Amino acid sequence: MEKVVGVSNQKLSWVLTTDLDSHRQLFYGLKNTHYEVDTYCCSCGYNKFIIKKADQKLGYDCEECNNSRFLDANHADLSIAHFLTSNYELINDLKLSIEIELAEDKLTTLLNRLEASLTIEIPSNIDFISEQIVYTKKKLYSVSFGMLNKFKYEYLIKHDQEKFDFIIEKIEQLLTKTPERFNIPHSNIIDKYTINHARFFLTYPHFKEFDFFYWNEVENFHEENVTIADVLNHLINHRQEKSVKKALYQNYIQQIKNKKFHYGFLRFISQEIIDPNLLVKVIATDLSKFKFSEIDLGNVKLMIGFLKIHYAEKQIVTMLESVPEESIETFFLDTSNSFIYAQEILQEEFAKVPCSLNDLHDEFVRCSNIFKNSEIIRVIFEYEELEKSKCRSGLDYDVRLPQSGKELLCWADDLHNCLATYYKQIKAKQTTIYGFFKDDQIQFATEVDIKNKQILQSARKYNRELTVDEQKALHQWFEIVIQGSINLTV
Ligand SMILES: [Zn+2]
Repeated sequence: MEKVVGVSNQKLSWVLTTDLDSHRQLFYGLKNTHYEVDTYCCSCGYNKFIIKKADQKLGYDCEECNNSRFLDANHADLSIAHFLTSNYELINDLKLSIEIELAEDKLTTLLNRLEASLTIEIPSNIDFISEQIVYTKKKLYSVSFGMLNKFKYEYLIKHDQEKFDFIIEKIEQLLTKTPERFNIPHSNIIDKYTINHARFFLTYPHFKEFDFFYWNEVENFHEENVTIADVLNHLINHRQEKSVKKALYQNYIQQIKNKKFHYGFLRFISQEIIDPNLLVKVIATDLSKFKFSEIDLGNVKLMIGFLKIHYAEKQIVTMLESVPEESIETFFLDTSNSFIYAQEILQEEFAKVPCSLNDLHDEFVRCSNIFKNSEIIRVIFEYEELEKSKCRSGLDYDVRLPQSGKELLCWADDLHNCLATYYKQIKAKQTTIYGFFKDDQIQFATEVDIKNKQILQSARKYNRELTVDEQKALHQWFEIVIQGSINLTV
């Protein structure tokens, strides 16, 4: 730990015993004297050096204040944990100093973990020339957090709410004083930065404007998305029409007034709706209305892409506008899910109904029921030994192969995606699908080309991208099990 030269700012009295021979600078030439130096550092500020024979025990009361209790610095230096158990009551009353720093996250090796520690300074050496005591800092209690918003505690003294609150208060004071030290961009509208702000910008260090904090679903933006203008541009696929940009900007300003921004399916709609006037209409509708939390936007995009085959853009936009806000989630969730199931047979089965969400919903449900009752539920899959050997547990996830079309349908039900439509390819041994399970629940599925050792695609619920943790787990599985480049004993 860090060395501090000078007077400790903590009011404890210590005695430190050092070997006289180690202070060569002062007693040069003397060797094996069998003398020691007891250094008494009193909390009143008075220090006393006493030379004595080794192992000799001398009593000492401070000459300034008569204090007679000196803690054993050698003991504390040797084993701080053991020292604390025998001096617990003393340490607990002590006003501990706090250190706050940015530290490296072990997993990502990025400087994105904030650590705050309560420390104690223990005399560890004496500089006789300057008569200064060298203190070493030891951590008694630390709280850290970083990516993935997890708090982590480590403590030698008792963990209690009071200490935790004290640390959080100190961190927030420091964040507010020097936000730039913690990568928090300046905000014009708030006067105090909190732990939540720090967590957000530690997790997304590439964002250079504070208002990103109010955005929903930011995990899809990467290093090149730095300013809000960049990201808004990215969201409308760099469409150049002035009217489109203006509509988006106005919508953004309107929403951010309430310290929230939902961009809904803006990204997909700006790819699918080519006519700028119609696109402006959708954007002006009120994007926040489309603040889906449960709905897979990828599925909605596929559905709109499909609708474009059968309907004019104008009809689609009219349908979107007409969806009542209160039922938007249920409507879209049901409709896009049914659409996904029905995908396999839509080409043959879809009957062109009026372009309204109700009619489309019913038509997709009708088609998906036909699919669910079709041959898929009777299909049994067979696998090669090579494919079976990749089902390894113990890497955080239980990796499984679907045994039947029925099981694949269950997985697809849980993931709300089109996994089930792969049953023919699996049956024909054209591809292999693995499910990654935790507590018997499927978390995500991945399609692998076993022969060429390639991951073709992966998806979690609602076809969303994998989380950082899941990506890591998949990567690990791929390296160990598929590529076999690392030998691991599981
Ligand atoms: Zn004293």
